[in-house]
Amino acid sequence: MFRKDRLGGTLEGLKRIAGEDNVFTGEADILAYSYDAGSARARPDAVVRVDAADKVAPLVKLLYGAGVPFLPRLAGTNLSGGTIPLKGGVILNLSSLNKIRSIDTAAGVAVVEPGVVNLKLQEELAKAGFFYPPDPASQKVCTIGGNIGENAGGPLCLKYGVTADNVLGLTVVTPQGETLEISTDDPGPDLPGLFTGSEGTLGIAIYARLRILPLPKNIITAVCSFASVDDAMKAVAATIASGIVPRALEAMDRVSLDAAGGGGLELSDRTGAVLIIELDGNSRRDLEKEMAEIRAFAAAAGSLDFRETADNAEREVLWAARKGAYPALARLAPNVMVEDGAVPRPKLPRAAAEVRRILSDYKLTAGLLFHAGDGNLHPNVIYDERDIEETRRVRKAGHEILRACIDLGGTISGEHGVGVEKRLAMNWLYDRAELELFSRVKEALDPKDLANPDKIIPVSDRHARRKDAAPAARSAAASALITELKYRAAHGIKSRVKGLGTRLASPGGEAAGRDLDVSGLKSVVEIYGDNLTATFEAGIPLRTLRSELKAVGLEVPMPKLDGTLGGLIATKAWAGIRDLLLGLELALPDGTVCRLGGKSVKNVAGYDLTRLLCGSLGAYGVILSATIRLCPAGTGRHSPQSVPGALRPAGKSPRFPHAESRATGFVPSDIHRRLKKAFDPENLLNPWIYG
Ligand SMILES: Cc1cc2nc3c(=O)[nH]c(=O)nc-3n(C[C@H](O)[C@H](O)[C@H](O)COP(=O)(O)OP(=O)(O)OC[C@H]3O[C@@H](n4cnc5c(N)ncnc54)[C@H](O)[C@@H]3O)c2cc1C
Repeated sequence: MFRKDRLGGTLEGLKRIAGEDNVFTGEADILAYSYDAGSARARPDAVVRVDAADKVAPLVKLLYGAGVPFLPRLAGTNLSGGTIPLKGGVILNLSSLNKIRSIDTAAGVAVVEPGVVNLKLQEELAKAGFFYPPDPASQKVCTIGGNIGENAGGPLCLKYGVTADNVLGLTVVTPQGETLEISTDDPGPDLPGLFTGSEGTLGIAIYARLRILPLPKNIITAVCSFASVDDAMKAVAATIASGIVPRALEAMDRVSLDAAGGGGLELSDRTGAVLIIELDGNSRRDLEKEMAEIRAFAAAAGSLDFRETADNAEREVLWAARKGAYPALARLAPNVMVEDGAVPRPKLPRAAAEVRRILSDYKLTAGLLFHAGDGNLHPNVIYDERDIEETRRVRKAGHEILRACIDLGGTISGEHGVGVEKRLAMNWLYDRAELELFSRVKEALDPKDLANPDKIIPVSDRHARRKDAAPAARSAAASALITELKYRAAHGIKSRVKGLGTRLASPGGEAAGRDLDVSGLKSVVEIYGDNLTATFEAGIPLRTLRSELKAVGLEVPMPKLDGTLGGLIATKAWAGIRDLLLGLELALPDGTVCRLGGKSVKNVAGYDLTRLLCGSLGAYGVILSATIRLCPAGTGRHSPQSVPGALRPAGKSPRFPHAESRATGFVPSDIHRRLKKAFDPENLLNPWIYG
């Protein structure tokens, strides 16, 4: 446990590394870093301005060795208390690490330091005719490092994916001060997927390799008004179900619109909400056809009017209103509480109605903003925290909204993170098994719990959902496999996990373990067409999966591969699977089942173990089932940019034999080994890989 008086000796060391003028302990500095854009408050003991990336590792080593908590911080715009030092300690202010190292348009890659402001990067890229897709509304001030910390989203993420889909590689300083280079192309478990969104609790990114794209040739923007938010959400649900993938599909209610100055629109008294719809692509004619379809969906949902913006100036006024809505609401009252639930897209109309009911029950005023195409809702409740009774109502309403999202099959955070403020809600989303797994992952990388402590993981799992409260419907094959795992774990029997076409090179004999055949797991669990997602058991052959989807007019936007779905995920034979994967049901070696991720297309609640499991080669757990993104078959709407995963090249040989080389080329690093212990401490699964 960190005792504040221990900082004394460490201060000199910090000054030696960071420079005398870069270490601050004065009252003004301490106060300035005791809050962020969330509502939690706590004082750090010192603030260090880091002015060179290569100073991060020695600073972290020093602090870790001295047992002092440390928190990376950038613009401090996170909305979940992600930079609040509840135990005190040292804030590492990385804002001076703000260089764009390179922009390589031929390779489609930019390399940046974490303190680069998101909009600054966009401006530099635009000069070269490129853009970086994640565009949080706070992009004028928030930074790439903060975006990585939170796995931030923004309007364009509907089409182009969230931060994790656009980070190709990272240089990370681990909690113990080691420097790691990690890439989404590396064989083995997907470490960039784990680090992105880990809120500075697993390490500090000092460089990022980002995917950049050419600016689209055509953009069409339309705005459409409705009498109610509910009607607007019906139009959103119909658009998503049609398979059209707008570049952005955002909604604002009347309160937000009025606060933000109306967005240049002439609003009638009847207007209760507007949708902003933006399409981009190479063929203007195709875009116009799609916009006409969306117009028809809007009319069917009861739109009051629908019109395309006349020029760029008009479009910019509209976007300024959308992106400026939160600060505008913040001017209406001393405090704003921004909720951040996400639900499967067809559930949006229900979620919006529930949110309005809850706000009305608690007699609260809020502006409602939606990254509607992603099923992500942001009620912005305005209040005065000096009024204790009102503040209590705000908290209760916030909790009810999150519970409503969970009940609708969604999650407690689409993009703002858990931080300090949503730790309690993690208990409602996950059960004990998942929370314990998150804790073990944190402990594996940060045994002393010093890297941004007190974030993500609940203080106690006393309130955690009990596993038997909602038993999952499982196939007989899955139940038998879980029973077998339990038996083998009890008797120390090692297993070689075997799929269908995914034979990993393994030594024969007892050392490789007894075969554990997962090819019996071949049920279609759910095809959720209106949400464009489906859940399959992991042993389903990809060929069967394709024909099941084709029968209902859907497909997976990926190359035609053989083998099983679980094998594809475990071997990462096609790297794009990491971006199509939304959720997993995973059996740990002792038969404990963890449900990771889900059906929401945006979800930053807890560590992204779903992505980590891509490339885990069956050595971390047995994948029972997986939920993936889909698109409509044969509409041409999965052109490479319409689904994030589809952007990844298939590689020279998009076939399963490729898996062999990925598997045999994998040499576990120290981090992989620590994570292996978190999942499989006895090395029971595919033991030769970590033997
Ligand atoms: C008006 C407004 C609008 C917003 N709109 C959006 C939106 O549209 N979409 C969205 O997703 N969010 C939005 N946000 C939330 C916020 O802007 C994002 O979470 C953003 O990514 C935070 O960036 P930052 O630079 O402020 O980071 P900070 O708040 O300083 O840090 C965020 C987290 O990242 C960690 N961190 C910082 N640096 C590093 C590093 N180098 N390596 C690892 N971890 C690190 C921190 O410890 C912290 O946990 C909005 C916030 C506001 C105030």
